[in-house]
Amino acid sequence: VKITGETAVVGLIGWPVGHSVSPAMHNAAFARLELNWVYVPFPVPPERLGQAVAGLFALGVRGVNVTIPHKEAIRPFLARLSPEAEEVGAVNTLVRDTAGWVGHNTDGEGFLRALKEEAGVDPAGASFLILGAGGAAKAVAFAVARVGAAKVAVANRTVFRAEALCRALSSRWPCRVEALPLEEAELSRAVSGADILVNALPLGMHPRVEEMPPVPPEVLKPPLVVCDLVYNPRPTRWLAAATANGCRTMDGLPMLVAQGALALEMWTGVKVPVEVMRRAAEEAVSGAAYAGGGG
Ligand code: NAP
Repeated sequence: VKITGETAVVGLIGWPVGHSVSPAMHNAAFARLELNWVYVPFPVPPERLGQAVAGLFALGVRGVNVTIPHKEAIRPFLARLSPEAEEVGAVNTLVRDTAGWVGHNTDGEGFLRALKEEAGVDPAGASFLILGAGGAAKAVAFAVARVGAAKVAVANRTVFRAEALCRALSSRWPCRVEALPLEEAELSRAVSGADILVNALPLGMHPRVEEMPPVPPEVLKPPLVVCDLVYNPRPTRWLAAATANGCRTMDGLPMLVAQGALALEMWTGVKVPVEVMRRAAEEAVSGAAYAGGGG
């Protein structure tokens, strides 16, 4: 990109941000769209978060992605939250408003888009089993509940977090909920009642590729649809086992691309070239220099 007096700046704040796929994905889209925009990674230490958020607004930055560890801590520094960000309690995208930054969360909608477009699955009326109760799990759980999932079961190592998520879900949406411990026997039973299993645990991620979520591959059988939010490696060993058993599967990359495309649509107001973003993300993930990380 040729930087001029007119160049619009967007970027990513996190700590660290060095391994993010987002700059490659967004800058590829700007090149294709021939937009005079640039996407820049900004490493922001936790103690500078408030200053950074105010500074980015003052500098006229057009939009910001937010990644680990700032997704929850950023909330007090924003003018307001979208209903999705409010529900999930986490922000991954900032959009400018006259009064300040508006915090959005595109992870849940990104998952839904990926599920429909990549896996060809309709979440309405389906029974979900989600592994994990962290930020990604919450975003997915609220998104599927919002579009009419019949049941959302949540399994987590720290069970009270699964229980808290289930309470929050059922107070807001009419789905059935169930909180479970992250134990093999429980999960082997629970999986038989699920249509769609989602791994939102950081297990099997590069470099610890031998780890697996505690749902044994032998219980992953059709017609179960299996999604793994981990996108490095693609697929994880666990997801590869589900595919080998004949399950329909989806890795984490389509969601990563969709959440980025949604952010870019909000910032630019134009229809974004999703295929270009996807190719750039695939290349960045498979690049030898890439060593994992969020966003
Ligand atoms: P997070 O908020 O830190 O949550 C981590 C979750 O994993 C918690 O439920 C935690 O359980 C559990 N956990 C961590 N280490 C564990 C272990 N050794 N054994 C059992 N459980 C463990 O993280 P997140 O942001 O939700 O991210 C989770 C995963 O999703 C990551 O792999 C991330 O890369 C991926 N992700 C992908 C996308 C995408 O677009 N594809 C988007 C967001 C995240 P406790 O509550 O017990 O600590």
